[in-house]
Amino acid sequence: MRNILTREQAVLEAGRCLYCYDAPCEKACPSAVPVPEFIRSITTGNLKGAMEIITEANPMIDICGELCPAFCQDVCTRTQINSPIRIRELHRYVTGNADMAENLEVPAAKGGKVAIIGGGPAGLACARELRLKGYSPYVYEKDKPGGIPMQEVSSGRLPEDRAGRETGFINDNFVSGVIDEDVDSAQELLKSYDAVFVSAGLAEERDLGIPGESLKGVYKAREILRDIKNGVRSKAGKRIGVIGGGNVAVETAAALKAEDPSRDVEIIYRRGMKEIKAFADEIEEANELGVTFQFMSIPKEIKGGGRVEGILLTRAHLGEPDASGRRRPQPVPGSDFTIPLDTIVVAVGQQADKAFPGISRKADGLIDTGEDMMTNIKGIFAGGDIVRGASTIVECASDGKSAALKIAKFIEGGVMNV
Ligand SMILES: Cc1cc2nc3c(=O)[nH]c(=O)nc-3n(C[C@H](O)[C@H](O)[C@H](O)COP(=O)(O)OP(=O)(O)OC[C@H]3O[C@@H](n4cnc5c(N)ncnc54)[C@H](O)[C@@H]3O)c2cc1C
Repeated sequence: MRNILTREQAVLEAGRCLYCYDAPCEKACPSAVPVPEFIRSITTGNLKGAMEIITEANPMIDICGELCPAFCQDVCTRTQINSPIRIRELHRYVTGNADMAENLEVPAAKGGKVAIIGGGPAGLACARELRLKGYSPYVYEKDKPGGIPMQEVSSGRLPEDRAGRETGFINDNFVSGVIDEDVDSAQELLKSYDAVFVSAGLAEERDLGIPGESLKGVYKAREILRDIKNGVRSKAGKRIGVIGGGNVAVETAAALKAEDPSRDVEIIYRRGMKEIKAFADEIEEANELGVTFQFMSIPKEIKGGGRVEGILLTRAHLGEPDASGRRRPQPVPGSDFTIPLDTIVVAVGQQADKAFPGISRKADGLIDTGEDMMTNIKGIFAGGDIVRGASTIVECASDGKSAALKIAKFIEGGVMNV
């Protein structure tokens, strides 16, 4: 459940910080937020100062305060004594109680135009850093600026005012122009810009690859989330099976249950509770809403005559680890069983689409870049999920920051468009 600390709770929690000299929390943060520094500001009641410290390091301050997986907490030294500092909640306390910081000075534009394809966390972070270096970033966005957090993450997890404030702040202060366009070719854009940053995310959702997937009543998870986010009642029925064990599966199940508590919503996952990949607080929230789980169950066939009527599953046991190091689910012979359902929601992963011809891809479809974050085409850089695969907001924001450095270096070595 989304917890907001009171002033007293925040000061008490901040007072638990050991201010480690090597700050493992800061090292674990992809955006290198100086965690002990902002925590110290909370203890002195200086929220403006805390906001400035976070802002300088992390362009996605509001959104990370709500949704960050908080890698920092996993390595907190306090864990060795009792429990980790609740760093994300302290971060949220700061962003929830302070105005946007204005400590970042925007220099006069010095020439050098960069096109950014996709205004998600990677693209917006890149825009901010480029503008702070004196360049002019133009963001090409085919949908709502802000990427997945603005377009899909349910408002129960990310309140509209938090996401909107962040995106608006970056657009107003650091973006030279937002162009409402679905870009086909990065090379075409490069003709009018000094560099291009491709941060278009993962547009496609994977199929289950079993019979019955084209029946009426089978949906992809992100299309359901987008509808709910846009205030459109989802097409899902009353007995819903959500297939998958990641954050998207758990979030979709929770959103469907929140939309209509009279629905039965069950997550069907081929491994067990221990192996589920979703964040613990998301699972807890889904549980609280009444979402149920069907573990160790492999989907074999979606049943129905035209419309979904159920799903045929087989029990699984966990075998040897696969390439990812996780134990592979193996079917238990003779253990087939069917659950009656009217809706199936598929949430088994995301992948890149085939956009941007000419840019080299790896076997898994992700964009191939070098250490310098440049693609095979000189002047075209890429980062975020389209390079990493499904990842996190803070990692994508960090990619955007790093790409801005590399792009600046590239432009400085060449001739700029003024
Ligand atoms: C449902 C869901 C919940 C999640 N929850 C969390 C969470 O709680 N915490 C967390 O850390 N991470 C979460 N993630 C992951 C996180 O949202 C992503 O890792 C992150 O948003 C990726 O950032 P990005 O900038 O690479 O791409 P995106 O956020 O996908 O943004 C890409 C942008 O590019 C635009 N675009 C695409 N193609 C084009 C084109 N051709 N022309 C113009 N514009 C284009 C898209 O409209 C989009 O706005 C979640 C993901 C999903 C799907």
